Amino acid sequence: MKERFSGKVALVTGGASGIGRVTARVFAREGAAVIVTTDANVRGAEETVDLIKKSGGEATFIRCDVSVAREVESLVAECVRRYGRLDFAFNNAGIGPDGKRVPVTSIVDMPEELWDRTIDINLKGVFLCMKYEMKQMLRQKYGVIVNTSSVGALKPLPGFGAYVASKSGLLGLTKVAALEGAAYGVRVNTILPGPTERTLLFEYLTGTHPEEREKMMAEIPMGRLATPEDMAEAVMWLCSDEASFITGHVMPVDGGMTSK
Ligand code: NAD
Repeated sequence: MKERFSGKVALVTGGASGIGRVTARVFAREGAAVIVTTDANVRGAEETVDLIKKSGGEATFIRCDVSVAREVESLVAECVRRYGRLDFAFNNAGIGPDGKRVPVTSIVDMPEELWDRTIDINLKGVFLCMKYEMKQMLRQKYGVIVNTSSVGALKPLPGFGAYVASKSGLLGLTKVAALEGAAYGVRVNTILPGPTERTLLFEYLTGTHPEEREKMMAEIPMGRLATPEDMAEAVMWLCSDEASFITGHVMPVDGGMTSK
């Protein structure tokens, strides 16, 4: 079978684990050269690159904290220096509602630093990525961006204030970016994952709050958790020419959760 994305270049932020790792591997399976990034989990990102290379794909790791403008600017510049272009960007890096291991927190009890950190990574981080990715894509007159929001943006829960605010902000930001790219061959969409197994985020959340797993399962009409593969295939389709008229779209990948 012909590889869909042969000759294309894909950037995946947060590719050290979970959804980002699997999506990076699926991009490579489809023939794209993949740039995998993460901030702290360097070992995880290097493992992702190794897995891709062992399967015969092309991948590079570049370290980048998406909340730091100069790091994001040099990340995109380095992609272009190495591969000559940037076709796809999956802006997926994010931290959980608990800022990893901090307990889920009501607005009243939320420390300002937790709010700032969540918004900096989950919302400002995507803004910074799109700022530099779009510059390159507008120049090329071609590119597809997929951002990672969350079902939490449509189904808010108590205790998830900063997370929900950051992921809801992405819905509007995606639409504005789609409008700004539409006349120039640049499409921008966002996926909204439901609770996804085999991700650190979900493990942290259910590790500190085991009761959350059953509560979430009960909310999913299809009766199972999402997998990183579910997300990766949605991203592939959004990036493909089959979706060439789709931009500004907000796509839940959630087994019906947000339809309830
Ligand atoms: P994960 O924790 O396994 O992966 C998160 C990735 O983001 C890691 O590679 C981590 O190193 C990276 N990251 C964190 N902070 C960063 C920073 N400042 N700069 C660069 N990279 C950074 O969890 P995941 O579920 O695979 O998360 C991927 C995305 O999916 C996140 O945006 C998350 O909010 C979203 N999401 C996940 C679920 C779920 O149930 N797992 C549900 C809805 C949305």
